[in-house]
Amino acid sequence: MIDPGGGLIVLHRLFVAAGLALSIAVIIAGCQASTAAPTAQDAKQFLDEVDTTLNRLALDASRAGWVAQNFITVDTEAMDARATQAFSDASSRWAKQAVRFDNVEVPADQRRQLNLLKVSLVLATPSDPKESEELTNLVSSMRGVYGKGKWCPDSAKAESCMNIDDITKLLATSRNEKEIRAAWEGWHTISPPIKKDYQRFAELSNKGAKELGFADTGAMWRAKYDMAPDAFTKELDRLWDQVRPLYLQLHAYVRMKLHQKYGDVVPQKGPLPAHLLGNIWAQDWSNVYDLVAPANADAGFSLTDILKRRKMSAIDMVKAGERFYSSIGLAPLPQTFWERSLFLRPKDREVVCHASAWDIDSVNDVRIKMCIDQTAEDFSTIHHELGHNYYQRAYNTLPMIFRDSANDGFHEAIGDTIALSVTPEYLVKIGLLDKAPDASRDIGLLLSRALEKVAFLPFGLLIDQWRWKVFSGEITPAQYNQAWWDLRLKYQGVAPPTARGDEFFDPGAKYHVPDNTPYTRYFLADILQFQFHRALAKTAGCTTPLHRCSIYESKQAGQRLNNMLSMGLSKPWPDALAAVTDSNEMDASAILDYFAPLQKWLQEQTKGQPVGW
Ligand SMILES: [Zn+2]
Repeated sequence: MIDPGGGLIVLHRLFVAAGLALSIAVIIAGCQASTAAPTAQDAKQFLDEVDTTLNRLALDASRAGWVAQNFITVDTEAMDARATQAFSDASSRWAKQAVRFDNVEVPADQRRQLNLLKVSLVLATPSDPKESEELTNLVSSMRGVYGKGKWCPDSAKAESCMNIDDITKLLATSRNEKEIRAAWEGWHTISPPIKKDYQRFAELSNKGAKELGFADTGAMWRAKYDMAPDAFTKELDRLWDQVRPLYLQLHAYVRMKLHQKYGDVVPQKGPLPAHLLGNIWAQDWSNVYDLVAPANADAGFSLTDILKRRKMSAIDMVKAGERFYSSIGLAPLPQTFWERSLFLRPKDREVVCHASAWDIDSVNDVRIKMCIDQTAEDFSTIHHELGHNYYQRAYNTLPMIFRDSANDGFHEAIGDTIALSVTPEYLVKIGLLDKAPDASRDIGLLLSRALEKVAFLPFGLLIDQWRWKVFSGEITPAQYNQAWWDLRLKYQGVAPPTARGDEFFDPGAKYHVPDNTPYTRYFLADILQFQFHRALAKTAGCTTPLHRCSIYESKQAGQRLNNMLSMGLSKPWPDALAAVTDSNEMDASAILDYFAPLQKWLQEQTKGQPVGW
């Protein structure tokens, strides 16, 4: 799973935005002009207008975004910003206008569209133009501070300065505790200047959310999930309780191995040091795999080597991805996909190489943008990105407001679900591997996957736990940092290497906080992908352990998947979920099924060792 802007789907990015004074002025004028109570006919007309305008603005913004990321220049960036702004101004305006029809009787699908417009905002600006402008500026300023964030170990030498990429790399590869700690602390020096802005931002964004009828910004975010905001919070806790025993086992095992490596810096019981897990936020532990790998961990083959030996080109690899989807009965990608996608890093210009899937015209002009290397990781990422494209194409006949995933966790989950089907057995079937390794090799593969997907779960949950409490006032500005570390201890069982007083603002050192991007979607995606995988594997008639199942060549599984994809956002997500799983409840037990052999192995490894913190 890829989080910061990762596997980005263009339309999503555009919904995430604030309105400006301009749009407010339009609404006020609109209200004064029409005093008569709106009718069902007015509502229909409003939605028709939204559909047409949304189509046009989305097309403009996607094209501008595509060009900006494929030809990075000041001009393309400015054009992209302008198109994005037009889109977000409109979204903000529609969210506010949709309220006018609250008491009008309209058909159910129109009611759903009106509701979706109201909950589409991530940031609601207050109607006071000055406050609205202040809020918009605060967000850009926080983004700017984070984006330019650098840590300079030697303040006299500019060349010593490290940006987020440098620090990420150091934390992933260094095994020198002192060096890692310095870099970890260094990165966290970028965020204290954001603290005051964040406080004011929370105040003003709450004001905007209240004007739209929500208790606060957190309640507005939770309102997107087709259930009462409090019920949704309880639902997340329930899911976490399901997987927590597996997380505790993984935590205990990693702590034991890191203690062997680093000595008493890593306690034998108690929380893990947050800086030693190979990632700035301890959200993905894959980078310490070599320190915790079991003996005989090697998978028995290297897909990367096979791809290289076979001289598979980038196009060959994408064609293989397309064949996967064709094998489950989905129509081939359009010719334009092959003509317009970016598959290789160009030699003549700067591009954004971070893998992403695009839906330019909201109909058939789907593309991926990726700088493909001959690696196992990219082979799997191709399957993931194409998942977005097939989803986008499946819902392309619905009204524009419904052309999105069932909730914001679903889009990422689909790509990852398909990537879970990239198993050794699948590689054998497509002729890349002669023979699948026997089950004795599974632990290494499962452990490395758990370091990514199981380790992520508590982090995926706690970011918004913190923000929701900040927005509701339960966490006061004086408690920002303490509450952050309380939550990290409670959920992740990690602690900072040194005392973090309230002079720090450690939540601000995570991109999604200053950027104001909700985070629960990544938690949901992580849960859902295993649930989808289990259900589809069952449909495909798979009888091997779940982690060895691939839905390759199963038309039945493809049909079920497509039933869900083609619903887009037109039905509440529990209905979409039921289309694949026969259940309208999220269920984290699929994760336990998938990792069952690993959990058993972890229990054996940590026998007699403390579990928990
Ligand atoms: Zn993605």
